[in-house]
Amino acid sequence: MKTTVRTIEGSRQGLFIGGQIVAPKNGRYIDSFDPTTGERWYGLAEADADDVEAAVSSAHAAFRNPAWRRMTQTERGGLVRRLADLVLAHADELADIETRDNGKLLKETRAQMRSMPDAYHYFAGMADKLQGETIPVNKLDMLNFNLREPIGVVGMITPWNSPLMLLTGTLAPCLAIGNTVVIKPSEHASASTLALAELVAEAGFPAGVVNVVTGTGKSAGEALTRHPGIAKYVFTGSTATGRRIAGNAAENLIPCSMELGGKSPHVVFADVDIDHAVNGVVSGVFAAAGQTCVAGSRCFVEASIYNRFVEALVARTQRIRVGHPTVDETDIGPLALADQLYKVEGYVASGVKEGARVAVGGKRPQSGELGRGWYFEPTVMTDAQNDMTFMRDELFGPVVGVMPFSSEEQMIELANDTRYGLASGIWTKDIDRAMRFANQIEAGTVWINTYRSSSFMSANGGFKESGYGRRGGFEVMHEFSRLKNVIIDYSGAMQDPFVIRLK
Ligand code: NAD
Repeated sequence: MKTTVRTIEGSRQGLFIGGQIVAPKNGRYIDSFDPTTGERWYGLAEADADDVEAAVSSAHAAFRNPAWRRMTQTERGGLVRRLADLVLAHADELADIETRDNGKLLKETRAQMRSMPDAYHYFAGMADKLQGETIPVNKLDMLNFNLREPIGVVGMITPWNSPLMLLTGTLAPCLAIGNTVVIKPSEHASASTLALAELVAEAGFPAGVVNVVTGTGKSAGEALTRHPGIAKYVFTGSTATGRRIAGNAAENLIPCSMELGGKSPHVVFADVDIDHAVNGVVSGVFAAAGQTCVAGSRCFVEASIYNRFVEALVARTQRIRVGHPTVDETDIGPLALADQLYKVEGYVASGVKEGARVAVGGKRPQSGELGRGWYFEPTVMTDAQNDMTFMRDELFGPVVGVMPFSSEEQMIELANDTRYGLASGIWTKDIDRAMRFANQIEAGTVWINTYRSSSFMSANGGFKESGYGRRGGFEVMHEFSRLKNVIIDYSGAMQDPFVIRLK
């Protein structure tokens, strides 16, 4: 990486269009901040409709360019593999950049970046395995078949919480299939995506296959999602923004894949080892300071162990070390944005007002360096009710509401009583019960005696207001390719079209 990593400190970042780093046409930049200090660390190009037009045109030209369009499947897979190798070679640099941008723990971003190449390799291997099919046609001397082809220019809009990892599950298959892309990363964490774009160029992808336009949702995001030249949008972000983007896309009849928010239930039965379940609940909601879409933020505990469980959960939460994200001993870093911090504070206050009790946490750490950054203590709220505001809305921070349940039926009702349907977890030794939960829960992912384990080899996505479309697994190759039906008559004798032969 020649430019981004070397010049990012105190500098301005350009856009990545047509294989070049270019300044925004309007000359406008916005500040990006370091969440550990709240201070500016670089200026981000604020793209508008003109830059988006340039990026989409460049992606269209690349889609038509024979250097890309007529590349063999195996060659295309080879390019994706080369990108995988470059990501691995630069994994720690990419992790440094992302941690600086969004405050995620360095050990976590490093683990993500070091595992991402496996996903690129997985999808690279599919480049020459995507195939059509022959279909019966009920006529002699005719061949009826479906071709699978790339769809065109894919618009990808990503959030700030794990920008590169979330991008991988859609970018890698899109490239393996032969699409071209325009990416709009979050204005709060764009630097790692710009760095990745340079690796794309270094890997040898033709110019314009990958383009990055940065800026706010209002400017760059709106321009991209109103553009009629996009074949499909993949959006990862909040449900409110997803609703708006789906509306914009519908005006041009453009399909979307929506990966949205969640308010996931985490259920604990009395037959489990309490310490194991506490570890599961803690990692399910407090990892990444609660800033994960799958956070198990509503915890339902069987009434007979409720008090013991809460006691153990509070004791475990008290031992969580809040600190700087680059320090190895830190368990929880800061929230990525000041607004996020105020939002979490507001939800905790509303919970208390509605009758919940803060059993531990509930405030910003006051002392020294932590007082300057956007940190929030891991928080357990007891006496929670499913209809309290903080239990209904996704608050995207380190806060869990705990409440007892007395029967399996009541638990399923409570767990499904949400407009979201992204993930869910259950702790029990009873496999029958676990499978009944898996069958009845309205969520795209079910974890049994684990939480937040994931694989790029399985298709993940949401139900209800958590979205539609899937990331990962072979299914994603069908999301970003399309069928074309072809019929050949090889009889050599076209019949008189006006003679109808009835059976
Ligand atoms: P967000 O919705 O605020 O922003 C996401 C992206 O959309 C950003 O790039 C933003 O600039 C852009 N955007 C905003 N307004 C836009 C508009 N009008 N038109 C086009 N683009 C616009 O989300 P966020 O705060 O960045 O991320 C957190 C959210 O993402 C949470 O709700 C979380 O659950 C969700 N998320 C979901 C998944 C998943 O796989 N389901 C994964 C990670 C995060």
